Amino acid sequence: MSYVVIYNNGGHEILGKVTLKHAMTMLARDVARVRTSTGENFGPFLRPTSLELQRYIYSRWIYQRTGQAPYSKDALKLRDRGVCAYCGCRANTVDHVVPRCQGGTTNWLNVVLACEPCNAFKAGRTPEEAGMTLRRPPYAPTFKDIFHPRGALIAGRAGQEGPRRPATAKRR
Ligand SMILES: [Zn+2]
Repeated sequence: MSYVVIYNNGGHEILGKVTLKHAMTMLARDVARVRTSTGENFGPFLRPTSLELQRYIYSRWIYQRTGQAPYSKDALKLRDRGVCAYCGCRANTVDHVVPRCQGGTTNWLNVVLACEPCNAFKAGRTPEEAGMTLRRPPYAPTFKDIFHPRGALIAGRAGQEGPRRPATAKRR
């Protein structure tokens, strides 16, 4: 019996292994895609030696294990609704509240969305050191905060709050 290795979405972490038969049903159900193969055809697919979970399946897998949505920048934009945690303007950069140079890690409780000016001003300081105030503390969102029931990212929430520049205004 040959086995197929299952990787997370992104292909960096081995989650386990399944039989080839099980792997083929995962491909047929579109919950995984071929990551590496023998190069031979196997039905409509390449005969896999490893699979990578589709994002929505991996998201559910993490959620079922931890009760939390997996962190990603897209998910952070949804959690923070596209606005800067410090000034409330539209934002597109990730700020580590405790900066990485001070040992802060990338996890839900230490990241917020920030606009470029706030992020650049804060630089390698904590909010206290920079004299900045978080509009609300970071939190770990649940699966349904970030994903539709089937697991796709909820689209269209980011940027709905906060002032927008008129589309025709030039950036200064
Ligand atoms: Zn800002």
